[in-house]
Amino acid sequence: MRGVEDYLQQIKRLEELGQRCTATVLAQTLGVSLPSASEMLKRLAEEGYLERAQDGAIHLTAHGRPLAHMVLRRHRLVERLLTDMLGMPWHEVHREAHRLEHAISSRVEEHLAAALGYPEYCPHGHPICPVDRRELRPLEALQSGERAAVAQISEISEELLAYLDQIGIRPATVLTMIEAAPFDGPLTFEGEGGLVTVGREVAAHVRVCDPAQAGWINNRATGIAGRLGITEPQPT
Ligand SMILES: [Zn+2]
Ligand SMILES: [Zn+2]
Repeated sequence: MRGVEDYLQQIKRLEELGQRCTATVLAQTLGVSLPSASEMLKRLAEEGYLERAQDGAIHLTAHGRPLAHMVLRRHRLVERLLTDMLGMPWHEVHREAHRLEHAISSRVEEHLAAALGYPEYCPHGHPICPVDRRELRPLEALQSGERAAVAQISEISEELLAYLDQIGIRPATVLTMIEAAPFDGPLTFEGEGGLVTVGREVAAHVRVCDPAQAGWINNRATGIAGRLGITEPQPT
C-alpha cells in the first residue's frame, strides 16, 4: 500500500502547489526511476485512481482524490505530532512522516487529530483540512517595503528546507521586502535575524500571507516537548 499511498499523495501535493504533474516529475520528486514511476502510474490508472491526459499530465479521479486526501491528512498530522509533541525541527519531519503515515488507522488518525487540537496546517503550512482560509501569494510578488508572513514552504525538495531554516526563512517568519534586483536577480528581505537574500528559484518554493493570518503556527514550539523542557541536542 505504501507505494500507492505515496504516489497519490504526491499527485495531490503537486496539484495543491499548482505544479504540472507528469511521470517524469513524479519520478524525480519521489526519488524513483522513470520506468518504475510509469509502471506504477499505469497500474493506478487501471485501478481507476487517476487519469493521464494526452499531453502526459496526470489527474486524480473522483475515486483517487479521497484516498489521496486521506493519506495527505495522515502525513500532515504525523508531521505535527513530530514537531508539536516530540519537539523535532520543522525541516526534518517530512521524510520521517513518510515512515509512520502508512501505519496509521482511521481510529488512530482521529485520536491524533484530537490530541493535537485539530491543527489546520502541517508544520510547513499546508492545509490539513481541504480548505485553506489564508490568501496566499508567491514570496516574489511582494512590493518593496511590504511586510508578509511565510505561510507555506513546499516540501517537494526537503534539502531546501534545511537551507531555508538556516537563513531564517521559516513558517510564520515575518519578512519585509527590501529590494528585488532587476533582470530576475535576487530578492532581499529584512527578516527576524537581519537581511536575507535569496534567488528567485528558492523564492518560488515559498508563499506568504498577511501576518494577521499567520498565528496558526505560533504554538508549534510550545507543545508538549516545550512543557516537558525537552531541548534539541546541539550539533557538535
Ligand atoms: Zn509515505
Ligand atoms: Zn508538511
